[in-house]
Amino acid sequence: MKRPDVKVFVSDIFQEKAYLIYSDGNAIVIDPGNCYNSIIKFVKNKHLNVLAVLLTHGHFDHCMSCKSFQENGVLVYIHSLDADKLYTDGNLANMFGIHFDKLFANRTIEEGELCIGNFELLILHTPGHSAGSVCYIIDNYLFSGDIIFENGIGRTNFYDGDYKQLMQSIQKIKPYLDNGYKLFPGH
Ligand SMILES: [Zn+2]
Ligand SMILES: [Zn+2]
Repeated sequence: MKRPDVKVFVSDIFQEKAYLIYSDGNAIVIDPGNCYNSIIKFVKNKHLNVLAVLLTHGHFDHCMSCKSFQENGVLVYIHSLDADKLYTDGNLANMFGIHFDKLFANRTIEEGELCIGNFELLILHTPGHSAGSVCYIIDNYLFSGDIIFENGIGRTNFYDGDYKQLMQSIQKIKPYLDNGYKLFPGH
């Protein structure tokens, strides 16, 4: 499989970044945010088939349009420890006074390898920002969610955040970044 292309969309809520990874007519979405319409427009233009929505964690700013994807037959994946955030106040939407369409994930994931269509992914469990935060590695791309940004690290002051765990998680992905993997952060 040739190196997939990545298209970035930016949510107008907290500038959350949604990523569409595509190759050979198939695509996966990482953290759609509230970008459903713009992603679908792009997908239709390029005649892509969206195979899955993968979430780095369950905070609402990353997950807002999951329900729309799911209602259109796209499976939603999230780590088991963040799965309940999709239908509880754990997604923090209420805290920010924002409407969130609740849903149940189609698949819960753990650390390890995952194949979706032609896409081969490595999932790293990287808690600290939330208990079920993960990073996804595809080719030499690393999608970090909210554990690390271009200029800083994620917040740990939410109820299941943990600073020490976050530091350990950053150590876990550091070798990839040192080896030239390209970072695609959540904001
Ligand atoms: Zn978050
Ligand atoms: Zn976020």
